[in-house]
Amino acid sequence: MAVNLKTDLVVDGALALLPSRCLLCGARGERGFDLCAGCRAELPRNDRCCARCALPLETPAPLCGRCVRRAPPWDAAWAPFRYAYPLDRLETRFKFGADLAAGKLLASLWIASHAPGELPNAIIPVPLHRSRLRSRGYNQALEIARPLAKALRIPLLRDVLQRTRATDAQTELSALQRRRNVRGAFAAHFEDDVPQHVAVLDDVFTTGATLAECARVLKRAGVHRVYVWALARAPAGK
Ligand SMILES: [Zn+2]
Ligand SMILES: [Zn+2]
Repeated sequence: MAVNLKTDLVVDGALALLPSRCLLCGARGERGFDLCAGCRAELPRNDRCCARCALPLETPAPLCGRCVRRAPPWDAAWAPFRYAYPLDRLETRFKFGADLAAGKLLASLWIASHAPGELPNAIIPVPLHRSRLRSRGYNQALEIARPLAKALRIPLLRDVLQRTRATDAQTELSALQRRRNVRGAFAAHFEDDVPQHVAVLDDVFTTGATLAECARVLKRAGVHRVYVWALARAPAGK
């Protein structure tokens, strides 16, 4: 397929000159973001959180109580935002309303966040089962992972992890039910060498049941170090 890159670049350049609009309130966007300065300041940052699972903490501590009691199957977590207003509005539009502009904005906000000092060798998005992919039309984790991987210059491995079984939507389930629901639902297959260190990436980290299952499968496949990355962390696991 012939693609005229030159024309694409010119069109991109012309669009970049248009003033951006805030996707939340319609005011003028700030510095290339489709978000105004006021709405951006309201975004719930996840600066004080558990180093292992990114759970927001009320008082500073290295780890949350749950991670002290029982270490999760991954090695570290990065979730730059808390899943709360107004970021949840953008996420809902992106995930359930096919609003890809909201997804692009969420990815830019993640890229603009302070990355951890040690970066993985590869990023692996949490896959959707093909039946879910067919009905939604896109995998929200992959859509966010792609620009982030590019910005951080880390290879994106999109086919390594597969969801081999369709699972119930996690939203209405308790933490225990969520763990059972995703058990055995993933398989990992590396074409080439197994990377030493990967980040498995999802859009939202709620109880961590899905990410934990992915981390276990990747470690079983030979990955030494697994980080879990999510754009936003739900305040407290049920
Ligand atoms: Zn705004
Ligand atoms: Zn924790």
